[in-house]
Amino acid sequence: MLGASMAGLLAARVLSESFANVTIFDRDTLPAGAANRKGVPQGEHSHGLLARGRQVLEELFPGIVAELTAAGAIPLDLMRDCVWVTGDRPMPRVASGLAGLCVSRPTLEAAVRRHVLACPDIVVLDGHEATGLLFDGVRVTGAKVRPVAGGEHDVAADLVVDATGRGNRGPTWLAALGFDRPAEERVDPLTVYVSRDYRRVPGAQDYAAIINSPNAGRPFGAVAIAADGDRWMVTLLGVGAGQAPPTDAFADFAAKLPDPRLRELLSTAEPLGPPLRMRLPASVRRRYERMSRLPDGLVSIGDAVCAFNPAYGQGMTVAAAEAIELRDALRAGREGLPRRFYARAAKVVDVPWDIAVGADLANPEIQGERTGKTRFLNAYVARIQTASGRSAAVGRRFLEVANLMQAPPALFAPSIVARVLWFGRRRPAPAPAARRETVAV
Ligand SMILES: Cc1cc2nc3c(=O)[nH]c(=O)nc-3n(C[C@H](O)[C@H](O)[C@H](O)COP(=O)(O)OP(=O)(O)OC[C@H]3O[C@@H](n4cnc5c(N)ncnc54)[C@H](O)[C@@H]3O)c2cc1C
Repeated sequence: MLGASMAGLLAARVLSESFANVTIFDRDTLPAGAANRKGVPQGEHSHGLLARGRQVLEELFPGIVAELTAAGAIPLDLMRDCVWVTGDRPMPRVASGLAGLCVSRPTLEAAVRRHVLACPDIVVLDGHEATGLLFDGVRVTGAKVRPVAGGEHDVAADLVVDATGRGNRGPTWLAALGFDRPAEERVDPLTVYVSRDYRRVPGAQDYAAIINSPNAGRPFGAVAIAADGDRWMVTLLGVGAGQAPPTDAFADFAAKLPDPRLRELLSTAEPLGPPLRMRLPASVRRRYERMSRLPDGLVSIGDAVCAFNPAYGQGMTVAAAEAIELRDALRAGREGLPRRFYARAAKVVDVPWDIAVGADLANPEIQGERTGKTRFLNAYVARIQTASGRSAAVGRRFLEVANLMQAPPALFAPSIVARVLWFGRRRPAPAPAARRETVAV
């Protein structure tokens, strides 16, 4: 296993059902507890765990949600306990049955790592960088690994899983073995995040998260997620030229949002640290499932296969869902595993990719191919976003799909389409004050 972050840890747990020994290599020195680290720079920005991700975690590590809750994480119903604004007003706050978890990324990863380390068949070797693959002409037979202390050695393995994240070198390693590189789809979301933690007084608010997603008419947004350590993790985001959020005027930026609650929160909350800025890297999808030749003995998982704009917070949930696909593919045998796994993983990735990248492409500034399907989906999703503020049924269905708890056809059920068309119709903008005066006169 290469990479000991979310995808690597979850995959290691499922591999331990099929292999006698699992060794995970990570190039970082892993902290003993919950701490940010160099290999996961996004961990300093707001993270939340969606319903499918939480479900998988609990399935693989029974009791982990209760442990995290005892450590300060906040379990929530993702509709009732959240202020979600996808259009011009918040969704109705009703119980949805979508159980998510508000938890900082380092705390979540540390808990998962603790559980994985408790598995007797799994060993984690940190401070070890993977530098290439071993190949016998037919299959991948292991990996080359370089300890920080120096030197490089070969590690034999029946299966190598590449979970080295967004910047992974899998395609280059494949090319060095004489295989094609996977086709890549790439969309730069031109997005800047600015994040800062604020002190949270438990019980002072009746919500656990505020999520203002950007949309075609509003190229900026913001989230506040309650987290362990009595914190609000707040992230402001802007899409495209001139939209980068400020690092020093969080409440002013929040005042531009359609819902006032984030501005109200920020106008009194005490900052707990400096603001952090990140230019989001391009979203990348590697199409391993379309390759005509793949070596046996190697699969990639998590951000190494597809890393996208985290506007809907789906990355860790995708890694978790892929781990379950890897488990199920392995249960069916090892023959042709990569091809079977990638076919399953592609189905997992389709939905969040279409939602996240589709949302990016709804902004005319973002470069990328807009197929007929993209245009149709964007027009429909724009209506869903508006309708979600007016119809609980539409909001719930959209969240069920975004949380990977329902397949996308659920968005096209007749009762939902009817509501989307009715509640999602474009409303005339309120008349500007000057015009109203003219009419009144
Ligand atoms: C700003 C931001 C906010 C996000 N918010 C959310 C959110 O709210 N919810 C959500 O679900 N997702 C979110 N995501 C996405 C999420 O962070 C990723 O999808 C997730 O971390 C992917 O996990 P991974 O294990 O595939 O990769 P990573 O977490 O990137 O981990 C890769 C690991 O590989 C190691 N590594 C790299 N190269 C090597 C090598 N050569 N040898 C050995 N080890 C190596 C690294 O040290 C690291 O441990 C967010 C992403 C960003 C950028």
